[in-house]
This record gives sequence, C-alpha cells and structure tokens, in this order.
Amino acid sequence: MVKKIILWSIIAIILTSIFQNFHYNNNYVVNYSNFLSDVQKGKIREVMIDGKEMHVIEKNNNKYSTYLPINDPKLLDHLIQKHVKIIGKKPEEMNFFVSIFISWFPMILLALIWIFFLRQIQLGAGKGAMSFGKSKAKMFKKDEIKITFADVAGCDEAKEEVKELVDYLKEPKKFKKLGGKIPKGLLMIGPPGTGKTLLAKAISGEARVPFFLISGSDFVEMFVGVGASRVRDMFENSRKSSPCIIFIDEIDAVGRKRGTGLGGGNDEREQTLNQILVEMDGFDKNQGVILLAATNRPDVLDPALLRPGRFDRQVFVPLPDIKGREQILNVHIKNISIDKNFNSSIIARGTPGFSGADLANLVNEAALCAIRNKHDFVYMKDFEQAKDKIMMGAERKSMIMTEKEKEYTAYHEAGHVIVGKLVPKHDPVHKATIIPRGRALGVTFFLPKKDHLSIDKQKIESKISTLYGGRLAEEIIYGKDHVSTGASNDIKLATSLARNMVTKWGFSKKLGPLLYQNEEEEFFLGQTTSKISHFSNKTEEIIDREIKSIIDINYKRAKRILKENIDILHAMKDALMKYETINYTQINCLMNRKLLS
Ligand code: ADP
Ligand code: ZN
Repeated sequence: MVKKIILWSIIAIILTSIFQNFHYNNNYVVNYSNFLSDVQKGKIREVMIDGKEMHVIEKNNNKYSTYLPINDPKLLDHLIQKHVKIIGKKPEEMNFFVSIFISWFPMILLALIWIFFLRQIQLGAGKGAMSFGKSKAKMFKKDEIKITFADVAGCDEAKEEVKELVDYLKEPKKFKKLGGKIPKGLLMIGPPGTGKTLLAKAISGEARVPFFLISGSDFVEMFVGVGASRVRDMFENSRKSSPCIIFIDEIDAVGRKRGTGLGGGNDEREQTLNQILVEMDGFDKNQGVILLAATNRPDVLDPALLRPGRFDRQVFVPLPDIKGREQILNVHIKNISIDKNFNSSIIARGTPGFSGADLANLVNEAALCAIRNKHDFVYMKDFEQAKDKIMMGAERKSMIMTEKEKEYTAYHEAGHVIVGKLVPKHDPVHKATIIPRGRALGVTFFLPKKDHLSIDKQKIESKISTLYGGRLAEEIIYGKDHVSTGASNDIKLATSLARNMVTKWGFSKKLGPLLYQNEEEEFFLGQTTSKISHFSNKTEEIIDREIKSIIDINYKRAKRILKENIDILHAMKDALMKYETINYTQINCLMNRKLLS
C-alpha cells in the first residue's frame, strides 16, 4: 500500500516534468539579437513575457520564443516605442503545488519509508497479520518424519544418550511418575555434517512426535525485538503440539556470549538470547517440549545457556572413525544399486576425515559416475572416481585428509605418545587419534590420575618435551625441511609453559623466585593499554635466555627418546593408520614392542 503511493508519486513527478518541457519547447526559438532587430523593424505585434522567456507573435502571425540573456531594463521602452502589445503572465499558480511537492519530496519520501518500517516492526512485536515476527520454524507433523535410529550410523554413543528422550516423549506423564528426570535442553556438539540434525529427526521419528526445525540465524534480524518475538512465537506453537521437539541448528548464531565488545553490544541478539533463556526457564509449565540444539563451537556460547535447567546435557557427535564410516556407507548404499563385490570397509579406510554428510555425498557422486560410465551397477571404480572428484574440490574447511596428511598426522601423534610415555611423571596417555577435531588434524589425550592443584618442575618439563614430540617425529622421519605447520599450537603451549616457569613460578636459578610479569592486555574501554614493564632490558634478555635454555634441554631430550625408539614410532604410525584411534591398551602393547592383536 505505502509502496504503491511512493511508486505513483514518482511516476507523477516524472510525467509533470516531461509535460512541462514538452509545453515550453514546442516553440521555435530565435536569438535575442534577431528578436531586437525584428522589434526595430516593426515586425512584432505581441510579446508575452514569462520571466526570462518571451513568447513572440509577429504581425504575420508567426510565433517564436526567445530568452532574455540579462535583465534588459530598456526592453520595455523599446517595445512601447514600437507599439508592441506587451502581455505579462499571471504568476504560476497551477505549478505552485507541484513546486512545493518537488521541494518537499525527499522529506516526504523519508517519512513514508520511516512509516513503512515502523509498521513492520510493530507487526513484528505485536504479532500482526504479517509474518515478520512469526517464527520461521519449519514444522514436521507427527508422522511426517520417517527417519529412525537405524538411519543414523556410526555415532553409537550419541545415540545411546538420546534414547532416553524417546521414552520420555512417548509418554511424558508416565515417565515423570516413575521418577525419571528429563533434561529441558540437550546440546549436540560436533563438526558440520556429522548427523546432528539427522539424530534429532530420528528422535522425533522414533517417538512419533512433531518436530520444529529452525536455524539460529533465522532469529537474527536487523530490528530489535523481532528475534525475541520469533522465539516467543515458536515456543507458543510448540506448546500447542506438545509433546514435541524443537531443534535449533547453529545455536551459536544467537547464543554467543553476551556483553562482548564493551558498550555497543548487539542488542537484538541479546534480546533474542534472553527470550530463549526465559522460555527455557518457564518450561515446567510446558511439559513435553524438548529443546535440542546443535553447535560446532560450544566455546563461544553464553555460559547462561549451559547452566543447570537449560542446556545442561551435552552430547558429542564427533567425526566418524573407520568403523563408523563403514556403517554410514552401508546405510547410504541401500539407496543405490550396488555391485555385489563392493566392499565398504575399503572405502571407509580411504576416507579419513570424511563426515557423514561427506560420505552421503560420496555415495551420491559415485552413483552419478556410474551413470556417466554407463554401468549397470555402482562399482568400486565409480567410488574411486567419485572420491578423487570430491577430494579435489574439498575446501580446507572440511576436514577431509589426503593419505599423505594422514601419515604426517600419524607420525606426529605417535611422537607425542612415545615421548609422553617415556618422560618422568607425565600424565598417562589415554588415547591417540588421527581423526580431526576442531582445527587439529589429530589429538593425543592425556588423562591425569587425579586433579592436581599444583605441579612440579619435573612434570612441567616432561610436558614441554612431550609437546615437542609431535614436531620432532615429523622432522626425524621427513627431514628438517619437511615438517608441517601442524605443531604451531604445541609450540605456543610449550613456550608459554617455559615462560611461566621462569617469570611466574620461580623455577629459574638465575632469576630466582620472583614475579617477572608484564602487566599487559589490561582491557580498558575496548582498548588494550600498552605494556608496562617493571624490569630492565637486561633482565628481559636473561628471561629470554632462560626460556630458551629450558626449551632446548627438553627439545633435545624428546629427540633422543624418539631416536632411541624409532621402531616404536614406525609401529605406532602403522597402528594409527590402520585403526585411526588407539587406546591405552594398544599403546601399552606398542610401547612394549608387542604385536597388536
Ligand atoms: P549436521 O546437522 O551435523 O550438520 P546433518 O544431520 O544435517 O549434519 O547431516 C547431513 C546429511 O549427512 C544427513 O542428511 C545424512 O544423509 C548424512 N549423514 C550425516 N551423518 C550421518 C550418520 N551418522 N549416519 C548416516 N547419515 C549421515
Ligand atoms: Zn601436536
């Protein structure tokens, strides 16, 4: 409606201006000197003066226009002298409104736009007829979702953890009566494409309850209050269909820590998040609604979201290991006509770092290759071809690894493990894996026997050695010039440990038990104030030298350990290549130079 008004006024203005130009330019134009000479010659009968423009009628009824170059005061005398009829023009009246309109037009336009947006916002907040503040959640009815747990493969732990929800959703009242305690919210954590959405859908498919699907980014709008109103709307709808499931994908889009960035925070996002928290707290009255959410970055979430009574239960949905990949492939090849000689474990072996979605894509791509190759069935060959195609196009963002990267990572992690096992007082190795996690290609997990409140010097030095184990293994195997960049985090950690030993924990003989800390990174109104040093350049030099010497000693120790046990290094690499994750029993076996069963 408002849009139409704006449109029509623009058209009207264009038309009037065209019409006016048309009207004036109709006449034949003659220059001023010719006009003067015509007057002189007595050819002119009549002149209508309209500002600087004059419409002239000759005695022989010819008409033309001319323009006054300057205000010529003598002109009138001239004309009177030659008995020319002079006609003035009535000041413009008809165009008065048009001119007002033109001069006010920008203002009017702004006002109209303003009104337009105001209306939208009010509709948003007040749940009017328009869909601005309505939840964008997509609703699947009770029997619309056909996905069951059988369709979700390779994440058995996660599946086990959510099974309880199905029992609850089937009969909430009974479950409560029996004393079952149900989380209000469950957060699924894992990289993209690992099947979080799929798992959520499977819960609803198994329990046969409605499913609301929404992405965190759907809440976020330009206008304050819209997101919150959408949250309210979504919960209201879901309450009507309870028991049911709400699934918020990418919750980090709304759930980021509040109040970061001093001063101008993002009001809209914070209001939306607050509304989610409010709705979750009021959950008792809406029994039977379970909120599931997915994220890849639990570290950026606002702590309030993770508090008891909210998303207090967390389920990890990691990238699948070899066995998981095999199972996922088996799920997806059911939909294609597969050659009977197809072996999913071979494909699983060759697809390290693939997520469930990557594997689904691989199967699909292989089927397309088979069609292109005019095969009656999808063969291993087609899979190989499809894999090459996917690996070539894979962005670094996904964690798909090449065989070479896999080997580098296997040596790297084996290096950490072996050093960690052979230095004194190190935390026991729990397991090592070359399945990517976060930004790391592989991880070695150490589990402390108990929480220690303080750690001694020997223990820290062991840790530094172990941190360098990864990089050193790469160096020993591939040579100094071929180490990967995968150790940057290790180096950072080792360096900061060494620095703390010298400057904070008083482990340096030369410097003694004093605090040598720069007061840095003080956060003041959004700006890091400059470093304030309390000690001299010379002290600083000594600190650097002490750090370097601690690192040198431990670096050399790690190198010696690895060189002495290079046979274990190779064996452990082979084991990692084969199993991708090795646990502490397997690690102990390898350390004792025994064959893995
Ligand atoms: P996420 O929500 O974790 O990003 P999705 O659940 O959207 O991942 O997964 C996308 C697709 O990938 C699914 O529809 C399914 O086809 C496939 N997929 C992912 N994980 C699995 C799995 N564990 N088992 C079977 N298929 C999977
Ligand atoms: Zn490392």
